[in-house]
Amino acid sequence: MHDLTVAQLIDGLRSKQFSSTELTRHYLERISRLDPQLNSYITVDESGALGAAAAADRALAGASGNLPALTGIPLAHKDIFCTRDLRTSCGSRMLDNFVPPYDATVVSRLRDAGAVTLGKTNMDEFAMGSSNESSYYGPCRNPWHPGHVPGGSSGGSAAAVAAGLAPLATGTDTGGSIRQPAALCGITGLKPTYGRVSRLGMVAFASSLDQGGPMARTAEDCALLLNAMAGHDPLDSTSAQQAVPDFSGELDQPLAGLRIGLPAEYFGDGLDATTGAQVREALSLLEQAGATLVDIQLPHTALSIPTYYILAPAEASTNLARYDGVRYGHRCEDPADLRDLYTRTREEGFGDEVKRRILVGTFALSAASYDAYYRKAQQVRRLIARDFQDAFAQVDIIAGPTTPGPAFALGAKTDDPLSMYLEDVYTLAVNLAGLPGLSAPAGRVNGLPVGLQLIGNHFQESRLLNVAHQLQQRSDWHLQTPPETEGGAP
Ligand code: GLN
Repeated sequence: MHDLTVAQLIDGLRSKQFSSTELTRHYLERISRLDPQLNSYITVDESGALGAAAAADRALAGASGNLPALTGIPLAHKDIFCTRDLRTSCGSRMLDNFVPPYDATVVSRLRDAGAVTLGKTNMDEFAMGSSNESSYYGPCRNPWHPGHVPGGSSGGSAAAVAAGLAPLATGTDTGGSIRQPAALCGITGLKPTYGRVSRLGMVAFASSLDQGGPMARTAEDCALLLNAMAGHDPLDSTSAQQAVPDFSGELDQPLAGLRIGLPAEYFGDGLDATTGAQVREALSLLEQAGATLVDIQLPHTALSIPTYYILAPAEASTNLARYDGVRYGHRCEDPADLRDLYTRTREEGFGDEVKRRILVGTFALSAASYDAYYRKAQQVRRLIARDFQDAFAQVDIIAGPTTPGPAFALGAKTDDPLSMYLEDVYTLAVNLAGLPGLSAPAGRVNGLPVGLQLIGNHFQESRLLNVAHQLQQRSDWHLQTPPETEGGAP
């Protein structure tokens, strides 16, 4: 059953080939057998999942024809989304004991859509990272090679979907955290336009960049998941008052006449040659489908890493000020006074990467450096966004690699934060500009998957899903599955 796409699972449930309880048990069995090796889940909610599956089966039995789209379909949530009565750790010791009193809007919408929550997936601490190695719960492994990282920060969601431990998963993307792990695990992931998906109940990292989105094996399945996630939320003032289309509606649209821009900056030095060749092979399939490839430029690309690594830490330093041992989360033992409570709680609760970002961000926002760093970065952000608008005057979408290369070995970059930050060179600008971006499988390099990134103008998610779906009609990279490895971590 785990080899079926979600579209096929929906058919199977509705035609009574299997029940949601059987399907859910199948995934729970695979998680208990295969996840000790992968570590893609932080929390598995067996009883909650079976309860929701039983309710879905009752609904399916009485099927009236207008059941919610995902009735009975299991899924996993990144452990950054608040789930009522189910621990939400955000990959941090700080929230190891945090059981939210409410559901994130994304979570409640998916419950309303009939989905069954299997559990919460592993992630870099507070979504800061590109490898899942900053998780308090230990690294998640790449299902294609357990010695390699799955990418991050939504590495657990990507690995779980790739390994058949969930047919769908939610992720969040502040600078690449849906697209990069999707690429490195060989699945499809979409970061929607900023504001398309509610951030209510999504633990905040960098509020002007964070965006939740779908992760699945196929573009068609991402569309099904996004249909249930997207839409204005009166409780999130940054969510867009924009009509939500049926994201499944345009998948079959032909590509004839589509102009795809290839930024010179995304194919230059720093891109692994074999990865570049795979991406070009995927692009040639789109060309055969009728699209035209156009050379373009995004001249400020090189500035996206320094700009992001000022702005994201600045926002993180203010967002993470709330973890002070007073309100919720970790609290140190026997504090001597208030200052001791704050400092020891934060010293114990946060890991190294989070502390590094808080230090950088606090520095950038300090009175003496605000103009030189924070204000300057905001100005450059505008230039980066303008590059994209200039490009969209010439082309319909932009394409390139998602990452500079395939997954790297565990530990290869943990001592060198700057080389880790380079992983995001092709993804960050999309968040700075608030645009939608998708990563679709584009084959493998040395056995490890790589991704084709598609970038659209604001609210053009349907177009990206359409192009990815057309690619997936002409290739089978998205259907290839990794070998199963059982047992404990090697
Ligand atoms: N890898 C980037 C970072 O470490 C992006 C993370 C994300 O998108 N959440 O900040």
